[in-house]
Amino acid sequence: MAKKPLLGIFSFTCCQGCQFTILYIEKILDILKKYDVQYFHLLKEKNRESKFDLAIVEGAITTKREVRKLKKIRKKSQYLIAIGACATTGGVPAMANILGKEGKKKYVFNQKMLYDSIDAQPLKNFIKVDKEISGCPIQKKQIESELKGFLKKWRK
Ligand code: SF4
Repeated sequence: MAKKPLLGIFSFTCCQGCQFTILYIEKILDILKKYDVQYFHLLKEKNRESKFDLAIVEGAITTKREVRKLKKIRKKSQYLIAIGACATTGGVPAMANILGKEGKKKYVFNQKMLYDSIDAQPLKNFIKVDKEISGCPIQKKQIESELKGFLKKWRK
């Protein structure tokens, strides 16, 4: 059987609306069958952080833990696409940056959550991003065309 590209779809701080947009693509399962889906927690119970030929990442980076995880994903990925306003600009989570760390303390119920927090930032502030798709959420046709286009390149 021909080798399929290894796919990982990841989420950082956000509402996950962009990942849901991927699931709303008509015939998404037919497209995903052509990939070896290693990581997509909205779809799979068991996920693996192996190597990835294509990584798709949504969400802003808001903690030092997330920075470490993002760098790990980048190291393992050949091609990485940032999807949505949160991943490409900081988006909705970055609206809280104006409060500063001290200001956020007033609004966060579980204060432990803030121990390693940083200003919400886009992925490109920490890693090389190969492509960005903007929007809140992204449009189905954009990500569908990326998923199909990657398969075409892969087969060549
Ligand atoms: S860009 Fe918008 S839809 Fe996508 S994860 Fe962020 S808030 Fe949600």
